[in-house]
This record gives sequence, structure tokens and C-alpha cells, in this order.
Amino acid sequence: MNSIKIFEEKQAAYSFSKRSEFYALEPIGIGTDRVEGLVSYLRRLANAHNVTLHALVSYIIKLHPNQSVYPTYMYYPILRNGMSKTMGLVVESLEELRLIPDPKNMTMLPWKNVISYSKLFTKEKKWCPICLDEWKNNGMKCYEPLVWGIDLLNICSRHNVKLHQFCSNVECRAFQWSGYENLPIEHCQICNQWLGINENLELEFVNKDLEEWNVWVADNLGEMVIKISNQKIPKNNQVCGIIDKWIQDFFQGDRRRFCYEINIDNNWLQQIERGKYRLSLNSLLLLSYRTKLKLNDLFYYGIES
Ligand SMILES: [Zn+2]
Ligand SMILES: [Zn+2]
Repeated sequence: MNSIKIFEEKQAAYSFSKRSEFYALEPIGIGTDRVEGLVSYLRRLANAHNVTLHALVSYIIKLHPNQSVYPTYMYYPILRNGMSKTMGLVVESLEELRLIPDPKNMTMLPWKNVISYSKLFTKEKKWCPICLDEWKNNGMKCYEPLVWGIDLLNICSRHNVKLHQFCSNVECRAFQWSGYENLPIEHCQICNQWLGINENLELEFVNKDLEEWNVWVADNLGEMVIKISNQKIPKNNQVCGIIDKWIQDFFQGDRRRFCYEINIDNNWLQQIERGKYRLSLNSLLLLSYRTKLKLNDLFYYGIES
């Protein structure tokens, strides 16, 4: 924390570690529902140092505390803020360098034991045009919050609008690929159109009564990232017991109804209970919606009681 403060004050290249030759930027939105995703942060950092994301990630992995770790092509690409091996190594290196506080909390890694990585993130970017405009008008950097990459999120709960997924230029309408390395993120990758408010853009406001599920998802995800540093997340060996507790307490021991409500079959549930797979975020949110307990509380309930 202090080292970042020093950089802010000096606004100059500053070596934070004997082993690291690059300086930190301040991550955006820490402690809020729009906390910056680590990939967005690394893209900005790579851009500030005039290197590619690939080169930066390679460099960071080489600084890993375990000297036998070495970047190989197998580790690429690093495109999402997920739970991949590469992401784990990058986070461990960054923790060792103390460049930024809690880099893990800018990813979904804290949830590794309980949420399936499969289909967690979208391939295309999503964004709220009003957020982009707000940042631009306040002279802030545009960036990608961690939650915007999550497949299930469809709305910006701050502005009550649907997130956008393609360029508003009628002659372009291109989707924005998450793997695209270059900045800025606020312009179309194809035609360079500003992706915030513009004359072609049609905002779709959310009717909270009709879109109760989407609102529930957005609120839940926001809460998950805000509270992550204080959150008790179950360990691998606790998950099976927690699932059993949910089935007993919320469904009176009726496994079939539990499976039905969270949209999985019994075979899959057995695999999850054996620790082979994890529940999807969709299933967890369905359970949360059904029980009206926020995801954080569901796990807390499972661990504590
Ligand atoms: Zn917004
Ligand atoms: Zn475009």
C-alpha cells in the first residue's frame, strides 16, 4: 500500500523490488463492485511500459518465488481473470513483489475451490456505456471491472442499464474480443468508435420487476467482489459437507429437488460431491436466488453452522 502511495507522489519510475525493474500503477476501484480485473490492470501496466501483455506476463512469471517455475507457451494466453495455472503463477509472483495489494482479489482465484471455471467468462467483452462516459468525464482511466467479464452478468446495477456487447456504429456492429491485447478498451477494436454514450447508441434500461434474476445476479456478484477480503471461502474438503447441509436444510433432504432447482442431474452432483468437479456459478446463483441467501451468506452458513 505504502509503495503505491510513494509512486503516486513521485509520479516517476520507481523500483519496488530488487528483483523487479518495472513500476506499479494503481489498480482501479479496489474495494468496490467495479474492482479492476487483473488482466485489465496488466494490460495497462504493459502499455505503460511499452511491452506486450505476453512479454509482461512472461517477465512476471520469471520472478516467481519458486525458481523452477518458468513461462512456457503452455501457459498462454492470459485473457481472463479466472483460475488458470498462469493466473495463479502471476498472482503468486505479484504477491512476492508486493507491487499491488491482494492481486488475487482482482481475479476469481479466491473461489477456486467452490466455483467451476468452465464457461465462467465470456469470450467477448461487455461494458456499460454510462460507466465509460462517467470515467471519461471525470478524467479517469477507462478499465474493465472484474465482474464485466463474467458470463452471467448482463446489467450495470449502478446505472440500471443492460451491458453492451457490440459496437454501436451501424456499419460496424463488431463484437469486442477479450483476447485483443491493445488499449484503449473504450474504443471499438475494428472501427475505433467510442463505446460510451454516442449518437448511435441506444441504452436499454432495466425494469427491475421483470428482470429480478438479472438484478439478483448483479447484486450478488457485486457483493462477492466487494467483500472478498473478509470472506470465508470453503476449502476443498468442506464443499461436500456444505452441499449436504444445503440439501438437508433447504430441501428437507430431497436431492432430486435440489438438483432440479440448481439445474444439474444427480450423476453430476455425485461427481461434485466426490470432488471431481465444482458447481457452476449459475447453479450457485440459482440456489442463492431460490433460498434468498446471498452467495457469500450461503457459504458462510455452510461453514459456520
Ligand atoms: Zn454503469
Ligand atoms: Zn466498431
